[in-house]
Formats: sequence, C-alpha cells, structure tokens
Amino acid sequence: MGGRALETSTAKKKTKIPQNGTVVETKSGFKYEYSPAPESKSIVKIKPRYELFINGRFTKPIAGKYFKTINPSTGEPLSEVAEAGANDVDLAVKAARNAYDKTWSKISAKDRGRYLYRIARILQERAREFAVLESLDNGKPIKESRDVDIPLAAAHFFYHAGWTDKLNYAFPGAKISALGVAGQVIPWNFPLLMAAWKIAPSLATGNTVVLKPAETTPLTALLLCEIFQQAELPDGVVNIITGAGATGASLVSHGDVNKVAFTGSTEVGKKIASAIAGTNKRITLELGGKSANIVFEDAALDQAVEGVVQGIFFNQGHVCCAGSRALVEESISEVFIKKLKRRMQQLRIGDPLDKNTDIGAINSFEQLEKIKELVEVGKSEGDFFEPNTRLPSKGYFHKPCFFNNVSAAATISRVEVFGPVLSVQTFRTPQEAITKANDTPYGLAAGIWSEKGSKVHEVASKLKAGVVWANTYNKFDPTAPFGGYYESGFGREGGIHGLSAYLEIK
Ligand code: NAP
Ligand code: MG
Repeated sequence: MGGRALETSTAKKKTKIPQNGTVVETKSGFKYEYSPAPESKSIVKIKPRYELFINGRFTKPIAGKYFKTINPSTGEPLSEVAEAGANDVDLAVKAARNAYDKTWSKISAKDRGRYLYRIARILQERAREFAVLESLDNGKPIKESRDVDIPLAAAHFFYHAGWTDKLNYAFPGAKISALGVAGQVIPWNFPLLMAAWKIAPSLATGNTVVLKPAETTPLTALLLCEIFQQAELPDGVVNIITGAGATGASLVSHGDVNKVAFTGSTEVGKKIASAIAGTNKRITLELGGKSANIVFEDAALDQAVEGVVQGIFFNQGHVCCAGSRALVEESISEVFIKKLKRRMQQLRIGDPLDKNTDIGAINSFEQLEKIKELVEVGKSEGDFFEPNTRLPSKGYFHKPCFFNNVSAAATISRVEVFGPVLSVQTFRTPQEAITKANDTPYGLAAGIWSEKGSKVHEVASKLKAGVVWANTYNKFDPTAPFGGYYESGFGREGGIHGLSAYLEIK
C-alpha cells in the first residue's frame, strides 16, 4: 500500500486531515495519507495557439478570433483556440462535401476500414498523451481518462473498422448508402470519446464529417487531427471546427449538411430540432438524464454501495447517464446510508493528474456555479450530507454529496445537476421502485442491484430507459446501442443501431 502512516487509532492524538482531504481507515485502525502520485505532463506538448482543421490542414479562422481553454484544476489558461465563424463553417462543409464526392464515396469499403484501423492503432499508441491532455483540459481524474475514455475511444474505431465491408450483412436484403456530410456537435464531459462515437460510425458508413467540440474541451479533438494526418486520411474527410454555441448553430443549420448528430443538453437539443425542422436532414439527439440506481434488500450491499458511488461520483457526475437518483428498499435504507457515508468519506478529491484521485475538477466555473445553486435548493428539500474532506485551494472543485429523504417532486430529484450530487429515496415494493424510477422527464439509463435474476429481468423490462445495467453501472461497449427515451433524446449510438443512423436503408 503506497501511503504514509499518520497515526494509529489507538493513539490519542487528534487526526490531522491532510491537504488533499484524504484519510483512509484500514481494518487494523491505521490511517493513511496517500502520497501524491502525479502523472507526468511532459508527454504532452500544448501549443500556444490552435487553428481550425479544415481540408486536412490547420487553417486560421477568417475573422481571426480566438478564445482560451482553461485547466479547470487551476483555473489557468492552457492555450487559445480558433473560433469558427459562419464563413469557416461553410469552408469546412465544402471540404467535407468535396471529399465525399471525390474520394470517400469512391474508395472501397475495405480501404475505409484500413483507415479506421490505422486511426485506432495510432490512438492506442499515443494513449498516454491523450489521457494526460484530456485530464488537463477537462479536469477528470487521470485514472478515468487513462482507463476509460481513451481505451473506449480506440475501441470505438476498432469496432467500426470491422463493420465497413460488412454493412450488407448488418442490413441483409436492403440497399444501403451513405447520407453524405455529417454535422456533429459534442459536449465537454467525454471530449475524445464523444468525438469517437460520432466520427467512427460516420466514416465506417461512408460519410464525411464536420465536428464541433465543446468550447471548454477542444484539445483532444484537435490532437486527433494529428492522428488523421498521421494515418493519411484523405483531406476533408474529417474537419474539426472549434467555437462556441454560435459555431454549433451555424453548422447544424448549414444547407449542405445531410445528417446532424448532437450530444448535449436537452435545452440545446430542442433548439437544434426546431432549427432543422422542415429540412430533409436526418438527426440523432443524445441528451440529458436523471437515471435511477435501484437497490433491493437482496443485493450484495457493499457492491451496490460501490456501484451507486461510481454511478454518480465517477467523472464528477459529468455523465449523461449518471445514476443521480438512488432508490433504496426501505428495509435496508439505514445500513445503506451508513455505508454510503463511510465510502464517501474515503473518496479522494484533488489533482486530476494524481493517479490516486477519485474525483477531479468540475469542468468550468459556470458549471460549478450551477451545481452550487442546485445544491442550495436541495438543502431545503432533503437531509444533506457531504464528507469532511478538504477541497484544493484553487481550481473548480465540489465535494460529492447526497440528499436523503427527498420527495419525487423535489427539484433535486427531477433536475439534471450534472455534478457529484445524489438524491436518495426509498421504496417498499418492486412496483413502487419501477414507478419511481420511471417518474422523470428523462429515460437514459438505470441500474438494478439484486441477487435474484428473475427480479432483475422483470424490473428491467419495465424500466423506460435506453440502457439498464444489472449489478454494475456505467459500463460502455461499442457493440451496445446507447441512447434514451423522452427528453433524453432519440436515435442510438453504438452497435448496429448506431450504424443505421448514418445510412439510407432501402
Ligand atoms: P450543451 O450546453 O448542450 O452543449 C453541447 C454542445 O452544443 C457544445 O459543443 C455547445 O457549444 C454546443 N451548442 C450550444 N448551443 C448550441 C446551439 N444553439 N446550436 C448548436 N450547438 C450548440 O451541453 P453541455 O453542457 O456541453 O453538456 C452537458 C449535457 O450533455 C448534459 O445535459 C448531458 O446529459 C448531455 N450529454 C448527453 C449524452 C448522451 O449520450 N445522451 C452524453 C454526454 C452528455 P459550447 O461548448 O460552446 O457551449
Ligand atoms: Mg478546458
């Protein structure tokens, strides 16, 4: 165990809470402060300024405007990034159209697959560089970017590489063709992974791409452009244009875009749906969530507590399918809460680049303010708990917390916080659990914790959520379709279902 013993529990001295707020109790009563284990930044070369990636080249924005991207764990700027105006968007769409007409629709499916395999392999080779850059720009713990985001992004390219020359088997008997140019807009919570979820299926199905990353996390998508160059992907097949909401709006409403794929908030999703209503653009929307993690009395309780903790505090709660509502069977609720508090006390909050960190930085000052506001509202709605850990003195951090005994009508039970904030309710019967889980305007995901297989299947079949996990949570795989019900959007990403969103199927 890599830690320094502070003192034994038998000693009378008062426990000193270390700067990063971490006190870990072991069975023998020792308390440990984990020694810092920072990942080196030296593998990443951040440029002082990034341009737009249009037609295979880094290109200055026509209006010459740039904006800063911040390291949320310090609040300091990392670099500045080009802001694409409507004219730049137009150039990018023209490049994508030209590449579609002249190269991408002409080459064989097998060759498309070769490019995707190359991209996947180079991404694996450069995984550490991407992981460090993601943690710097986004604030997420290195253990997540290293073990989740980057490997899953590579897996997405590998999976889709395999499909390129087998699409006829995916849709037997149908005549299939690509749609043309895909305009894609993504959020800041999984910057590279969301880019992979969008780009890989587009290329596999023969479409070309213009993608806009989120304003606060553009750097890994821009580094991915280097991989496209390294893989010798033909010019214009993927174009990355950075900017804010206005850039996204001009991309999705551009007249020569055939398919719009958006992941982000329900609010912006609705705006996009109305902006393109009446056009012949195809659209998929992956939006917000308020997902329930249901814990039955027959669950393996320690695993369930860990699953609930991972489900909401993983990635600072910046997960669309975060298990932000725990529904706990009344008979075990007391012991569940006790175990939950104990586990939360042990979570390590701090430097995203430290390999021991469980909870990193909130992605932006604005998001932190939004979380704080909703937590204040929650304090009048339920019993509030947060661990007595200490937050770093700079950067945007928020303690993990939960509200117990909240009503189903409470704001904190209904509104997506998009932060490390959990609401807890109880239930007495499986039917009550199902009713409460489905009592939300969203329907992205759900979790069930029970040792009884029949109960798991019965409850899962009645949950109105696009993904239901049993005795686990937040597990992703490129073969499995992901998407939501109701205000969580429509369309699926991943699996055969995800391919169909990029194809004309006759
Ligand atoms: P957001 O504010 O909706 O932004 C998403 C993207 O849309 C960003 O690139 C944003 O640019 C851009 N945008 C803003 N206004 C636009 C407009 N009018 N037209 C076109 N694009 C526009 O969402 P976010 O705060 O980045 O992400 C959090 C949300 O994403 C949460 O609700 C979460 O649940 C959802 N999400 C869903 C999934 C899923 O698969 N269902 C996955 C991940 C996240 P700026 O960055 O400049 O604002
Ligand atoms: Mg940033």
